[in-house]
Amino acid sequence: MRFAFFRAEPDPDHIEVAHEACAFRVAVKRRPAARRFTLRVSNATGEIVLTLPQGASMDAARRFADSHGGWIAARVARLPMRVAFVPDAEIPLRGVPHRIVHWSTVPGVARATTDAEGRAILAVAGQKAHLPRRIRDYLRREASRDLDAAVARHTSTLGIPARKITLRDTRSRWGSCSSRGHLSFSWRLILAPPFVLDYLAAHEVAHLKEMNHSHRFWSLLHRLCPRTEEAERWLKRNGTDLHRYG
Ligand SMILES: [Zn+2]
Repeated sequence: MRFAFFRAEPDPDHIEVAHEACAFRVAVKRRPAARRFTLRVSNATGEIVLTLPQGASMDAARRFADSHGGWIAARVARLPMRVAFVPDAEIPLRGVPHRIVHWSTVPGVARATTDAEGRAILAVAGQKAHLPRRIRDYLRREASRDLDAAVARHTSTLGIPARKITLRDTRSRWGSCSSRGHLSFSWRLILAPPFVLDYLAAHEVAHLKEMNHSHRFWSLLHRLCPRTEEAERWLKRNGTDLHRYG
């Protein structure tokens, strides 16, 4: 008697799903908790993810994804447009639209200024190839400056020492406060209106006193930032949009 050893092929990390003239890259994730096949298209990143239950066959998962090619195409068509850091692109800085201009005569790396007609621009010097990186560096520097100032202001109101902050580019949260009191924020807050950045700084500083979301936490936060509700509403409505840039 012969034994056949069936060794399951490892899952591919992605598959391609074709629909009409388009091919879509679909990430494959196997989840023990999943009960059925699901497809998701992320608004923030445009990533398409197929989730399958632990025991499901890859062939069945492929058939499922293929049969939803039209659905994927429709969802992708509705995704918000991405805005790359290239000349003439318009990006918000502190909530104000700025056009990117490659202006090599300006000394320094990048700066926000106005053009001859008085419109807001982000002027970038140096080689064109380095422009996206210069813009990113500039935005991170500005974010760090505004967040440092806001954190210093709120900690001084509470009579506690100022904190050093860390910048990140997380999609799941705009700010965090660790149990050891380390504050970190998304650099993308510099794209939002200043009261939104200020709210996030106040929120994380309030956690230095109240490591929870209790009633005491919220009343402390309202004391630091009277525009808390307005900022929360703004983030709910526009937060995803901030991930379109760069
Ligand atoms: Zn919180």
